[in-house]
Amino acid sequence: METTMKFATLAVHAGQRPDPQTGAVNIAVSLTSTFQMDGIGQLRNGFEYARSDNPSRRALETTIAALEHGKQALCFASGQAASTAVLDLLEPNDEIVTTANIYGGTYRLFHKVYQKYGITVRVADETTPESIQTALSERTAIVWTESPSNPLLTLIDIAEIAERVKNFRNKKNEKPLLIVDNTFPSPAFQNPLTLGADIVSHSCTKYIGGHSDVIGGAIVVNDETLWQRLKFYQNAAGAVQAPMDCYLLQRGLRTLPLRMKKHEENAYRIAEFLRSHSNVEEVFFPGFEDFPNHHLVAKQMKGLPGIVSFKIRGGLNSVNRFFAGLKLFILAESLGGVESLLCHPTSMTHAALPESERQKIGITDNLIRLSMGIEDADDLIDDLRNALS
Ligand SMILES: *Cc1c(COP(=O)(O)O)cnc(C)c1O
Repeated sequence: METTMKFATLAVHAGQRPDPQTGAVNIAVSLTSTFQMDGIGQLRNGFEYARSDNPSRRALETTIAALEHGKQALCFASGQAASTAVLDLLEPNDEIVTTANIYGGTYRLFHKVYQKYGITVRVADETTPESIQTALSERTAIVWTESPSNPLLTLIDIAEIAERVKNFRNKKNEKPLLIVDNTFPSPAFQNPLTLGADIVSHSCTKYIGGHSDVIGGAIVVNDETLWQRLKFYQNAAGAVQAPMDCYLLQRGLRTLPLRMKKHEENAYRIAEFLRSHSNVEEVFFPGFEDFPNHHLVAKQMKGLPGIVSFKIRGGLNSVNRFFAGLKLFILAESLGGVESLLCHPTSMTHAALPESERQKIGITDNLIRLSMGIEDADDLIDDLRNALS
C-alpha cells in the first residue's frame, strides 16, 4: 500500500484489498491449519502451516504495520503474549529498565515470570527521561515504557528517551532496545517508531479491536534483524492470533480513526464535568492544561484516548456506593470498547502490585479509571452525576 496514504485510508485498505481470486472485499477467515505443497520445499503461495503464517494473520499484520509506520508486525493471542515475545529477546543476567507507571500485568510478567530466569528489573526513580537514563546499567538490554500510562495517564517524552538511550552501550556493546506499550493512544494517536522507539507493543484487546469481543496482541518493528528474531520466536513458541480473532481485529481497525475521535471527545467532556464536581477529589486527564507534561500531547500525540481517572472523596465505602449508583457505565476490566467501562485499579488491573508500590505511584483505594465508550456524552455525564450524588 502507498505509504503516503493517510491513516483513515490505510485503516480500511492496507493489507485488505479484494481477494484476486474471488473478488471478496473482506479478508476471509482462513480456517485451515495446513497448506498443500507442490513438492519438497515448494510452497504454493508462501504458506505452509498456519502457526507459521496464514492469510488472515498476514493481512492483519500488514494493516497494523502500516498504521504504526512500521515495516513488520506480528500478532499474538493476547497483549501479554506479545510482551512475552519481546521479553524473549533477553538472556540471563540482562536487565529491564522501566518506570513505576506501567500496566500491572506487565509488572507481574517482569517480576513473577522472568525474574526466575535471572532477568532483573530496575525501576527508574521517576517517570522522566533523565531518571531512565540514570537507571541504565551495563546489563540493560531493554527499556520499557508506556505513555500515557495505565491508570494515571502519566506522559513521558518518547523522543527524548530514544535520544538518551541511543548512544548508550551495554556490556555486550549493544544499544538497549526501547519498547513503548502503545495500547492507550492506539496507532491513531501516537506512533512511537517515528519518535525513535525500536518496538511498539499493543494489547489489541483494547482500542484496536474496539468492541470488547476479542483478546489479542501485536508488536511492530522497523528493523529486519529484530523482526527475524521475533518472527522466529512467534513460530517457535506459537502463541499466535487465531484466524477468527484476526478477522475481528481487522474489522475493528477499519473504524479505529472514527472511534478514537468520539472516545476523545467524550473524555474531554467527562474530564471537565468531573473536575467541577464537589465529590471528586482529583481528576487525571492529560488534556488539562495544568496536567504534568501537558505539552507532550501536542508534541508526540495526535489526540487523547478516552481514558479519565479520578479520585472520589472518601474511601472504599464511597467507591462502592458510587459503583452501585451507576446504570450505564459497566464495572469491568479492560478498556477501549464502544461501551463505557470503569474499573477500580487497586483491586483489579493493578492488584498484582504490592500495596507499597501502589502507594508510591498514587494508586489509592479511592482511584477509579473510566474508559469512555462512544455513547452520547450527555447520557454518560447524567449517569456519573446520579452516582456521585
Ligand atoms: C490490557 C493491557 C495489556 C495486556 O493485554 P492483554 O490483551 O489483556 O493480554 C498490556 N498493556 C496495557 C497498557 C494494557 O492496557
